[in-house]
Amino acid sequence: MPKILLVEDETSIAENLIYALETEHFEVLHATTAGEALESLDESFHLAILDVGLPDMSGFDLCTEIRKSSTLPVLFLTARDSEVDRILGLELGGDDYVTKPFSPREVAARVRAILRRASSSQRTQQAVTPSDPLYHDEDAMTISSHGQTLVLTAHEYKLLAALMTQPGRIFTREQLLEKAWEDPGSAMDRTIDAHIKSLRAKLRACTPDGSDPIETRRGLGYTLNCD
Ligand code: CA
Repeated sequence: MPKILLVEDETSIAENLIYALETEHFEVLHATTAGEALESLDESFHLAILDVGLPDMSGFDLCTEIRKSSTLPVLFLTARDSEVDRILGLELGGDDYVTKPFSPREVAARVRAILRRASSSQRTQQAVTPSDPLYHDEDAMTISSHGQTLVLTAHEYKLLAALMTQPGRIFTREQLLEKAWEDPGSAMDRTIDAHIKSLRAKLRACTPDGSDPIETRRGLGYTLNCD
């Protein structure tokens, strides 16, 4: 049974989430403060759900603490758009976020999706990963760069997969929003820019010369270099 660390100080939100997650056969350990969460954290967890507004430390700082010793997937619960900007801008290593108010079932669905991605990228790493500059395993929904599986958020994955369908073609921000967001109307151009920025950082980390294949075409959009 996948084990989830839930860090949320609002009792009613926590209770609803615990109910939804346990119904979906997840084991949940609930902490109400970051301190409590760090004390409980060990190797047995599969994912952490972090409220951004915690009494003793922000969910962002807690994520940074967790990242010092673990690659545990993280789902943020945010209350404000300004917090979403931080998640997108700071490359905190969060895997996804949901904005309050949310339905507990939606959160459970996100958790399932993140765990599916995490386990398929593990499988791909164990199998032989082709050493192509970029390789898309559509079944596993993973992309590797120079033999290393990229740990991507859902949006980063969909953006890169879209760019890879036609290297050399310029995609406008609107076209990328259409391809990578379920509700393109709710996202903005700068959302694309923030995701592209974090995607490029991840690609550069895997490239021998520290370059990345995404090119910004000023005033037009983005394209993937084919050479
Ligand atoms: Ca809170």
